[in-house]
Amino acid sequence: MPYPEVAAFDLDYTVWPCFCDTHLNPPFKPVTGKNGEVHTLIDSYGYEVAFYKDVPRILADLKSHGVKIVSASRTWAPDIARDLLRGFKVEYEGEIVPLITLFDSLQWGERSKVNHISLGIKDIFGKKADIKDYKCCLFDDESRNRDVERYGVKYVYVRDPEKGTTWDLYQRYLSGN
Ligand SMILES: [Mg+2]
Repeated sequence: MPYPEVAAFDLDYTVWPCFCDTHLNPPFKPVTGKNGEVHTLIDSYGYEVAFYKDVPRILADLKSHGVKIVSASRTWAPDIARDLLRGFKVEYEGEIVPLITLFDSLQWGERSKVNHISLGIKDIFGKKADIKDYKCCLFDDESRNRDVERYGVKYVYVRDPEKGTTWDLYQRYLSGN
């Protein structure tokens, strides 16, 4: 069974290709596609931001296998990150939903990624839930966050800032390479 019980995702350069705290200025205007999906948001300076295109498919696949999804972000601007997660709209199980609804817990702040994941697990499974008892992974573009492996969390390095988290990378993680 290759699937984890909890999959955590960094946001900047893992879900979208920018630092939301320094590159973006709200409010955002959606670019709405024919079917109601919003893949691109335009900020007040005209800067366009889109999520990495494979992300919704990856989140949907995880959810269909019962995996809980946590965001783990140290951004200084959680309000902006939340605006993006609410503003992006994707098709999921035949409905158009904000991307944020695919996440089971949102974790923010200067704490380490292990703490984000640990708090996310408590948020989802209850106060007594312990990170050590769950099979977890972290998708993240900063290799220093590989330290999560000390706590048994599989680190998946999002190496390419152009492509971000891709289906291919996800498949390689699931197949154990
Ligand atoms: Mg990042």
